[in-house]
Amino acid sequence: MRNFAIKIASTGEVFPPSKQSDQAWFEALEKAHRTTHGLCLCLDNHQERRVSIRRKGKNLHLARFRNTSHLHHKKCRFYALSSEQTGLQGYTTDAVRDHEDGGLSIQLERGLTPPREADDRNPNLPATPRVRAPGERRNKISLGGLLHLLWSEASLNVWYSDQPSKRWDQKVGNALLRQAERFHVGHRTLDEAILLPAKKDEHEHQRNQSIVNNAYRSGLRLVAIGPLARFDYTRDEDLPQLRLGAPFGIPKLLLDEATRSALCRSYANELGAWQRGEKVYAIVQMALQAKNQKSFADVADVLDVSLLRLSARFIPLDSSYEGVLEQHLVDAGRSFTKPMKFDHNDAVFPDFWLLDMGCDYPVEVFGMNTPEYLQRKADKFDLYDNPKKYPKGWWYWDVLEHGEIPSLPTAEQDNAEHN
Ligand SMILES: [Zn+2]
Repeated sequence: MRNFAIKIASTGEVFPPSKQSDQAWFEALEKAHRTTHGLCLCLDNHQERRVSIRRKGKNLHLARFRNTSHLHHKKCRFYALSSEQTGLQGYTTDAVRDHEDGGLSIQLERGLTPPREADDRNPNLPATPRVRAPGERRNKISLGGLLHLLWSEASLNVWYSDQPSKRWDQKVGNALLRQAERFHVGHRTLDEAILLPAKKDEHEHQRNQSIVNNAYRSGLRLVAIGPLARFDYTRDEDLPQLRLGAPFGIPKLLLDEATRSALCRSYANELGAWQRGEKVYAIVQMALQAKNQKSFADVADVLDVSLLRLSARFIPLDSSYEGVLEQHLVDAGRSFTKPMKFDHNDAVFPDFWLLDMGCDYPVEVFGMNTPEYLQRKADKFDLYDNPKKYPKGWWYWDVLEHGEIPSLPTAEQDNAEHN
């Protein structure tokens, strides 16, 4: 990810990256905050790339403005796929809405505050999404959709080979927390209810504990995100509970029969990957059990859970073949992003987008031959055969056709300036 020059919209002052730690820059942000926005000069064209000026504590910083994020240089730090390039297109603005100041309002399928009893007689049953007509947009976001949104807003679905970023659980947790701070759910922000990976006695551990202690008073239904602990046959075969890695400060997460069978039905692939030792992340929504005065342990009932399979670099994967391709792209020094599905399973978009071609460039791996799959594959061939949208074409690897991965397209010479 790179920094480029920023222009303050109201005054026209331009600050190249080398000046973005000067006193004058901070003074300009202070003046501009709440009255105007920044413009990113990463590309020399006439498109307007707004960035918002946000306050966090005493500091002001710049944030991506999601409606124009796809207009940035593909290596600009404010770049992100457009909604049309991901499953985000499947939501109405009730589900996800941008704020002028760079925040987001979201509407969750299951809110953070428990409904009064009359509204929800079976609070422990996992939400069953009603059957939706193809193309119908949702006005609420599921728990799995929330994880996809946090992941993509934190740019954890992006890999820049020229700046490979080392990722580990706590670092990823902190990146997710920074996003949770700008996600508005009702009159709260998500960080008030989110538990993240923590090692014993570290700052994150204390943070989790204080979130849980507050929830005993407020009754909030907390959300935890973290890696599944290493699979252990004797402890995990019957899944009596969901065990997370780096779990300090997170309550013991009990699964009831209905939630467990919903999990096994919806996430068989992810559970298989976990059993083989791959990295799988869980997002869990829970209801705390009343505190047992005799024991120190916090215990919660899992209300809903969703899983996300990840590469060693925390790039989301939908299949083992995608994992092979992801490793191949990394080894070949390519930059790419994984479009997230959210709750939009019938949308057609590629397995990955290459970010080093100078234009939108889809990358696919095909590994099955069921009739439904072949229809989707044919749809993709039609869709990508569009020189206006994809002037350099697209690339695919058909596992059933090609024993070896075909050679990748040549990346564009990188002339972006670093200064
Ligand atoms: Zn930019």
